[in-house]
Amino acid sequence: MSKPARTRVREKADLLIVNANEMVTLAENNQKPRVGKQMLELGIIRNGALAVKDGRIAAVGKTPEITKVYKAENIVSASGKTVLPGFVDPHTHVVFAGSREDEFQMRVEGASHLEILDRGGGILKTVRETRRASVEKLVDYSTERLNIMLEHGTTTAEAKSGYGLTTKDELKILEVIQRLNQMHPVDLVPTFLGANAIPPEFSNNPEDFVNLIISEMIPKVAEKGHAEFCDVFCERGAFSLDQSRRILVAGKNLGLKPKVHADEMSLWGGAELAASVGAVSADHVLFSSDEGMKAMAEKGVVATLLPASAFSLMNNHFADARTMINLGVPLALATDLNPSCWVENQQLVIAFACHFMKLTIAEAITATTINAAHAINRAGEVGSLEAGKKADIIVLDVPNHKFIGYRFGVNLVDKAIKNGRLVVDKEAAKTEFRLIEEREM
Ligand SMILES: [Zn+2]
Repeated sequence: MSKPARTRVREKADLLIVNANEMVTLAENNQKPRVGKQMLELGIIRNGALAVKDGRIAAVGKTPEITKVYKAENIVSASGKTVLPGFVDPHTHVVFAGSREDEFQMRVEGASHLEILDRGGGILKTVRETRRASVEKLVDYSTERLNIMLEHGTTTAEAKSGYGLTTKDELKILEVIQRLNQMHPVDLVPTFLGANAIPPEFSNNPEDFVNLIISEMIPKVAEKGHAEFCDVFCERGAFSLDQSRRILVAGKNLGLKPKVHADEMSLWGGAELAASVGAVSADHVLFSSDEGMKAMAEKGVVATLLPASAFSLMNNHFADARTMINLGVPLALATDLNPSCWVENQQLVIAFACHFMKLTIAEAITATTINAAHAINRAGEVGSLEAGKKADIIVLDVPNHKFIGYRFGVNLVDKAIKNGRLVVDKEAAKTEFRLIEEREM
């Protein structure tokens, strides 16, 4: 006897995630970065499920609805757990050589930024070490950090150059980013940051270095197509407003979208500059004026806040996130991973954002997912769990999203799925650990 004609044949998916206590989708209204109260809308589905096909999300909904339509051999049970889009980290300096632990000790003892520079520390130490390192070595060092980022739930990240400060070394770092992008599951979005510091060989004539960036570095970077963004460290002692503007405009003319390290150490006009050049984001913004924040809100410039970086400066000053939200500035959160703020973990950044800047947990989740994706022009691909987007998904071993930031200093990620592939599985690691214990008995 044939089956009744109305029985539906279930469609085959590559992977199903089912029975999630909370499925945090952040779905809908994602054409623009979220502002104000929109940052509170997480689009949570209880008893949620999700089907993955060809590396993309095929459907999201309640478990009975999804399992009625889809079947799969690979099924992940998220019973009692929380499922989120993979974190996006929109500001990192992940490619560098060496370390600066001595400087950390000096900061603990109260040394100033200038004292550290005088004693041969600071960014120029990293520049010396990064210049000496080969492409292969830099790939190795950065891979280790990308592994840790992925284990902590980051599936897409921005990566900046900026520790070369010669045309050759800046191109070398961008080549490293390109290689990492091809070989590592974490997707990287490359940013050219030749204007990260004035190198020692130009300390007496910084204007010549600005000209080198504009006339040689930017054209070569654009020609090779190795960067999407052009960033500048706009700050006293680094690049003036006028120099920053010229660099960003030169980049923009050759297709590199502007980003700004703005008002990190002092009120320097970086927020206003970001708004006036049409930057995608202004980052740090610790000391920005109300006028600067209003200008950013008006132009839709994302403020990428870096509370771990502010924390590592040890001066108890954080960006005024609540005022920015009230003014309608879209917020994103990032690690600022670099040798003076060595952190790969966006969960800890969420904890800091809540503790020190009084972001609500919902706002902080929005800022590390969909708004972070907007900050690097990837909101069409990642940052929310919606049909058609990349299947970049994390499963956290907590019953609801309010645990993120509340339980801190540990890694809550149980599984990470990148492009539909299970790349992190802590449960499997636990099984292995049990097996070792048994063997030893
Ligand atoms: Zn930075």
